[in-house]
Amino acid sequence: MFLLLEEQLRLFLDPIKGLMIGQGEAVANLYVLDVGSDLQTPSRKSPFISIVVDSALWHNRLGHPSDYRTDFVTDVLGIKNINKRRLPCAICPLAKQKHLSFDSKNNMCANAFDLLHIDLWGPFSVQTVEGYKHFLTIVDDHTRVTWVYLLRTKDEVLRIFPEFLKMVETQYSCKVRGVRSDNAPELKFADLYKEKGITAFHSCPETPEQNSVVERKHQHILNVARSLMFQAKVPLEYWGDCVLTAVFLINRLPTPLLKDRTPFETLTGKKLDYKGLRVFGCLAFCSTSSKGRHKFQPRARPCIFLGYPTGYKGYKLLDLETNKVHISRNVVFHEDIFPFAKDQDEPLLDIFHQMPDSSSSFSPTSLGINIPVVDCPVSPVVENVDTSKVASSMEESEHLVDNGSGKRSSKPPAYLDDYYCHMQQAQIPYPLAAYLSYEELSDDYKAYICSVNIHAEPSSFTQAKKFEEWLAAMNEELIALEKSDTWEICSLPDDKHAIGCRWVYKTKLNADGSLERYKARLVAKGYTQREGVDFVDTFSPVAKMTTVKTLLAVGVLRN
Ligand SMILES: [Zn+2]
Repeated sequence: MFLLLEEQLRLFLDPIKGLMIGQGEAVANLYVLDVGSDLQTPSRKSPFISIVVDSALWHNRLGHPSDYRTDFVTDVLGIKNINKRRLPCAICPLAKQKHLSFDSKNNMCANAFDLLHIDLWGPFSVQTVEGYKHFLTIVDDHTRVTWVYLLRTKDEVLRIFPEFLKMVETQYSCKVRGVRSDNAPELKFADLYKEKGITAFHSCPETPEQNSVVERKHQHILNVARSLMFQAKVPLEYWGDCVLTAVFLINRLPTPLLKDRTPFETLTGKKLDYKGLRVFGCLAFCSTSSKGRHKFQPRARPCIFLGYPTGYKGYKLLDLETNKVHISRNVVFHEDIFPFAKDQDEPLLDIFHQMPDSSSSFSPTSLGINIPVVDCPVSPVVENVDTSKVASSMEESEHLVDNGSGKRSSKPPAYLDDYYCHMQQAQIPYPLAAYLSYEELSDDYKAYICSVNIHAEPSSFTQAKKFEEWLAAMNEELIALEKSDTWEICSLPDDKHAIGCRWVYKTKLNADGSLERYKARLVAKGYTQREGVDFVDTFSPVAKMTTVKTLLAVGVLRN
């Protein structure tokens, strides 16, 4: 007998005596039995129960980190030593170009925000559905917390970076003391640095390795973003969501550089809660609002999970029906179904492959503005959310996604795979079209075949009565039948039953395939008669009149 108490599972041998033989905790929709806990039944020391917590699932949720980092998280979650050996992952080799070595701790600053590493990435050839082409990466040297801002144009940096400095002052009561960047002219904020008293460090020309912290971080972000994209087969124009989710996850994974603490913990001192993490790009059913919903409207809508929006205790979802983005807390996930995966049949693209090397791609541009999409290391629960900004960014993202909806081909979502749908692009292994072709036919015959197919014949009265031409044909047939006195109306004898009749429609064509006329025939449904009941013989003995005459003639001759 099981007893579920909030997040606790208790297992009883005997519900009346209340003999507990085990207990466990809820971990991500599973109740994990704590086998090590003291059991009241010494005779049954280890119940024959093993609950498998799929570490592969956690590997997917965390954006395909190394086993070392996955293990750390599963340890934190209390899933110790359960099913640790997972099957080799099919996504990791595709997504990761090389193993990144951890860089040395030698030159790390002593305090948070003593030194920031900043770099710009892009432009990427495919812009996101929201129109972003670049991202700005900011790494804090001491905590290694990473912030990423998606940008439409490079010059948006000029607005975002000062805002970031202000955010640090307000949220962490710290002042940034130094900033390291490469020689990108966009990132030379001379006046700003002077005003704030910030020391600027620039790499020497042609030596981007001096900016290695952020270069390495870019590689790491792109590795994780690629694995998220490949895992869910997300279309390329969603790379922004992959990058933001990658950074969200990277900030929450431990690193040896920080003595196995996570960047997030190092900065905030808060313990992390991994329970809300879900597999990126999976199918998610989001509850519909009960407001204005009638009894027979669906209770949930199918969506695709696109990450953890900043400032919300919720999930970013792309509605599969409306193609709009929204944020919701009431979501049921199907973490093994990827709706986008069934959308694309083409082989995996090596995304970001064509991206320019970030250290060498800068060109001077003018200065400008824009709204950031921020991944800040603060957990998705942020208490003081500026509601006006929230609303406007929501509207904007909906609007933009809406604009992009024309581009995305609408194919059936994966959850319909188990059904035969008319919309389904049938996966026929040997389609007839591949073997049967009209190509070899002469032009005349091709024209004939086509013209034959133009005229559809209705199969029932219900279909035919919608067309003037078939109504006319039926009237013509009825007049003909009346004229030839085909029937006489009378009452049906008691022990007989009437057989019905039906219409048969035929189009008569001329020799060249053009229409001659529409022909309707009223026929008796002879097939409804049963042998022995409605008829006895299927034939009657008949004789030709010539035979009868011959017989009479022979009789006369012989007297
Ligand atoms: Zn993997």
